[in-house]
Amino acid sequence: MAAPRMFKLCLLGAPGSGKGTIASRIARDFKLKHLASGDLLRAQVLSKTELGNSANQFMQAGKLVPDELVVGLMLAELTKVRTTPWILDGFPRTREQAEVLHKEEKLDFVVSLEVPDDVIIDRIKGRWTHLPSGRIYHTEFKPPEVPGKDDITGDDLVQREDDKPESVRKRLEMYRAKTHPLKEFYDVLGILRVFHGTESNVIYPRVHNFLKDLIPAYGGPF
Ligand code: ATP
Ligand code: MG
Repeated sequence: MAAPRMFKLCLLGAPGSGKGTIASRIARDFKLKHLASGDLLRAQVLSKTELGNSANQFMQAGKLVPDELVVGLMLAELTKVRTTPWILDGFPRTREQAEVLHKEEKLDFVVSLEVPDDVIIDRIKGRWTHLPSGRIYHTEFKPPEVPGKDDITGDDLVQREDDKPESVRKRLEMYRAKTHPLKEFYDVLGILRVFHGTESNVIYPRVHNFLKDLIPAYGGPF
């Protein structure tokens, strides 16, 4: 029997589209390593690395971190997981990032989530984060057991600066301008699959079904 192949997946979706939730579920169910650029950047910010310090000002302002910083970080992470199938969440986000990635790694599939902007804005308003782990709660949809505290560590939760309404609007505009065009890039390569919806719990079973049929061709579930 042939050795299992690597499987390389990328998830595209606007901020608040449920990308993180869906990527975590995919990673769990198909045993893929979950690489979220936002979480990796926040870890750099927290440990006050040079990269983290440079990235922080852009993240606070709801802007994209410059391509060369993000590309350097993500390609370094990818070299650490050469033998593990993975899913990218939040990267690439620009044409330049997609082109550099494409030179280094050929994605097998790109899943794009399409969620209406008004649904997203409502959702992000109630979102609270446990910064060290990236765990996310929602005052309405997924409240923590103790208000304002992380379920696992009991640490304080915070509302990310970039989850405040003004930043969210900017991030959505940026997504439409910079990241949405990546769909075209991957469509031309014949590896794009789009899922429309408003709730992760409804979208995810459809994504799962799709991957369940696709992944065996790559030697998985892994
Ligand atoms: P959500 O997590 O709700 O999907 P999001 O995707 O905008 O929202 P993260 O992915 O956590 O949030 O990213 C947080 C911030 O990190 C972004 O607003 C941006 O400043 C920076 N960032 C993350 N990934 C990239 C990237 N690929 N290129 C440039 N900046 C990035
Ligand atoms: Mg994210």
